[in-house]
Amino acid sequence: MINAFLQLLYPKCCFACDQVLIRSENWICTRCRFELPSPGLFLEQPNWISHKLDGLIEYDRVHAYYVFSEGGKVQHLLHQIKYKGQERLGEYLGGCVGRSFSVKEYDLLIPMPLHPSRLKERGYNQAACVAKGIARASGIPISETHLLRTKQVSSLIGLNRAERYKTLEEVFEVLRPGELDGLRILLVDDTLTTGATFLAAGAKIKAASTGKLSFLALAALK
Ligand SMILES: [Zn+2]
Repeated sequence: MINAFLQLLYPKCCFACDQVLIRSENWICTRCRFELPSPGLFLEQPNWISHKLDGLIEYDRVHAYYVFSEGGKVQHLLHQIKYKGQERLGEYLGGCVGRSFSVKEYDLLIPMPLHPSRLKERGYNQAACVAKGIARASGIPISETHLLRTKQVSSLIGLNRAERYKTLEEVFEVLRPGELDGLRILLVDDTLTTGATFLAAGAKIKAASTGKLSFLALAALK
């Protein structure tokens, strides 16, 4: 009764299209659930996403749950997670991803780290929210202590992949690399645009350990 009254006063809206949700809907409306563009998590490799990474790093697979374009609904959804404090939405979508994976496929999830000062400013790491949702649904363990971001860089917007990579090259550090040896690691981020962040962080992991590396983005830019 109270919930119904609150819903009338403060209706919950779809995080992708802003339409008011009906009572049985949560986070995302039914229409968006069917219509948001998705490449399917288990893409045949190579594909249009792997073309952003192929030949630049040794890796196993790349996955993406959504495809996004500038100004589209998926970008709106990502914006809520990254800039509007909706960390629980990130965990929820991570859960959707995690139900597709099982502990047999990966040994460890590593979320893309934020620099501590950025983490303090935002209050949470959006990639870690997604990874936590995956971990909870799949049972795959998660580590936020093996990969660190030790340098803060200014915005990468407007830079091409080579410029982004050069900026990010010395930003990440791997701790206790021996513990990653032989593991099937899934590096998780909220978005994959040029792939430069995955390349820079992935290169550090590959240089430090014999772990087998795969990538997962909640959404990849088409
Ligand atoms: Zn919607």
